[in-house]
Amino acid sequence: MYTEPWYVQLPEGFSTPEFDTKIWSPKKPLVIVEPRLFDASAPVYGYGEVGPTDNDLLAQHDGVPMGEHIIVHGRVTDSWGRPARNLLIEIWQANAAGKYVHDHDNTPKPHDPHFTGAGRTLTNADGEYRFRTIKPGAYPWWKDRESWRAQHIHFSLTGRGLAERYVTQMQFPGDPLLERDPVVSTIPDAKARARLVAQLDWDAAITGVAIGYRFDIVLGGFYATPAEH
Ligand code: FE
Repeated sequence: MYTEPWYVQLPEGFSTPEFDTKIWSPKKPLVIVEPRLFDASAPVYGYGEVGPTDNDLLAQHDGVPMGEHIIVHGRVTDSWGRPARNLLIEIWQANAAGKYVHDHDNTPKPHDPHFTGAGRTLTNADGEYRFRTIKPGAYPWWKDRESWRAQHIHFSLTGRGLAERYVTQMQFPGDPLLERDPVVSTIPDAKARARLVAQLDWDAAITGVAIGYRFDIVLGGFYATPAEH
């Protein structure tokens, strides 16, 4: 038994080691584990409010990024067609050469000093969103010579809690790589695959400046936009 003066002697009958919480308490100080990305309890882009230009990936640096300038917009709805309001939409993508800014992209392609490839916005009262960006380049998947990711933009949609997170990818219409894309081709249903492809939208285009694409997202239900799990 312990003999420290502050130790409270258990009543008779409770002095066996099983009831002695002093024995069962930790003997060593707690180890503080560095927080990792998958432990994050908030969106990775930080706690700050979404700014009015956060959805303009062409305006995040002093210069203009290389590549084809595009508008990407659409509407987010639930399975009943009701608008998903005030949803945080974060996008990330490769630059026009198909290169990401992160360190793991070691492909022999140039970085664009004027392009980070990340943006965010909130859906409005009608569930609509809009980004201005560049058309990303395709990049290799390294499986074999014909294995390349089609041009795509990653989307993350976050509701009020992080438990409500929807991650998907937008592809571009007419991309010859779509047929063999190693991610899209894992979806067995052709109609579901088609829901990952944006539509050319001249109404959203800016004459002489940017081509428009519309990418509507349905969160669940029979016509759901396929999501990553
Ligand atoms: Fe990607």
